[in-house]
Amino acid sequence: MGAVPKRKVSRHRRGNRRRHQYLTPPELTKCPNCGELTRANRACINCGQYKGRQVVVVASDEDEE
Ligand SMILES: [Zn+2]
Repeated sequence: MGAVPKRKVSRHRRGNRRRHQYLTPPELTKCPNCGELTRANRACINCGQYKGRQVVVVASDEDEE
């Protein structure tokens, strides 16, 4: 015999179990450098800076290093 559940899990119990099963939306903050809205505790998508440091070289159409 397999490990088969003895009875059907009720709608209430199922929902109760899945109570903690959810995703939280990413927290957004304004970049102190460029003011763009970006993910908190991540390098800015717009200017590539994090904690006042250039961490990602942002690709741009202008010729600059
Ligand atoms: Zn920025």
